[in-house]
Amino acid sequence: MNVHDSDLIESGLVKKGFKKAVSVEDADIVVFNTCSVRDNADHKVISELGRLKKNYADKKIVLAGCFAKQIKLKKEQNGNMYFDYCFAPEEIFSIPDILANNAAVNDIGGSNETRQDYYLAERPEEYLENAGKIEEYFYGKKPENDGTASVKITEGCNNFCSYCIVPYVRGRERSIPIGIIYKTVKNLIDKGASEITLLGQNVNSYVSPDDDKKDFRFLLNTVSEIEGSFKIRFLTSHPKDFNDKLIDTVCGDNKIAKEIHLPVQSGSDKILAMMNRGYNSADFLKLVRKLKNGNIDISISTDIIVGFPGETEKDFEDTLKLIEEAEFSSIFAFKYSPRPFTKAFKFNDDVLLEVKKERLERVFQKYKEISLRQCAR
Ligand code: SF4
Repeated sequence: MNVHDSDLIESGLVKKGFKKAVSVEDADIVVFNTCSVRDNADHKVISELGRLKKNYADKKIVLAGCFAKQIKLKKEQNGNMYFDYCFAPEEIFSIPDILANNAAVNDIGGSNETRQDYYLAERPEEYLENAGKIEEYFYGKKPENDGTASVKITEGCNNFCSYCIVPYVRGRERSIPIGIIYKTVKNLIDKGASEITLLGQNVNSYVSPDDDKKDFRFLLNTVSEIEGSFKIRFLTSHPKDFNDKLIDTVCGDNKIAKEIHLPVQSGSDKILAMMNRGYNSADFLKLVRKLKNGNIDISISTDIIVGFPGETEKDFEDTLKLIEEAEFSSIFAFKYSPRPFTKAFKFNDDVLLEVKKERLERVFQKYKEISLRQCAR
């Protein structure tokens, strides 16, 4: 998602006449599009801002993305962080105009100028008013050299998983109208794309804002009907929104890649409830079985968080058990870190760092065992 947004910023700047520098040394302006999903992402931004200040004090620094939104929400002053401009994710469409006009907007609260021209507005009805900007960018997209291309279909999230900062920094869920997505994908295919990834925080809750019957399944069918030889992928799906009809579509359509990313986060029902994930371990395994029964070649990857507040050894063993049963094709595992604004931020972060590290290692070990077993078949 961040790569997609960086691409959007870059294309807007190039259109305004800015040239892409080959290195930071050569640049007059450095644009920093940031992530905020884990605390180490925040630490990297803070240390990089310090490094830039020390080594390149003459450059204009643009801070954009989720970390920028965090600063705005906290109404923090710059403090020891050095930047000239600060744009939340919904404001990144205004970056080219503001930079071209050379107006310094380091007002932490965001000025009227930045707010007028934003990309996807907080209120759904506003967002259609900005469709022209979205279309301009989407229709100008080109596939990467390897034939891949990504298309954002939703922004933000309504799920409020208790550990997740996304609904706060990216706002409530807003979907791009299906007509814009269709035309964008068609343009990309016509330009030679062989693989399209539909992107969103929770793609399977997609509903076109101009017609609530046009859901994610409808979108997949619509995109799949475009003529040409290409594969469709999508990221990220929420297990609670993966219904039987969607399983049929995914398993029955040859254009849809049989590689599904399905974040489970934990195998403990107690922890899943505390995380507000909306399913338990049995629901998740039932879904995995249905997907695998529908298509024996399907591979399912997942995300796991270890060391969530209150996670006991027994809870963690339940996670290992679920990993064993689901036989994931790959696992992205992370140590829990509290994120500001979230419900879990108020929980007691009581799992020791050493224990989190050890559990992370055990997840990777379990994954290695499964991979070896899969290779031996
Ligand atoms: S589904 Fe949960 S984890 Fe995913 S973006 Fe939404 S709140 Fe965050």
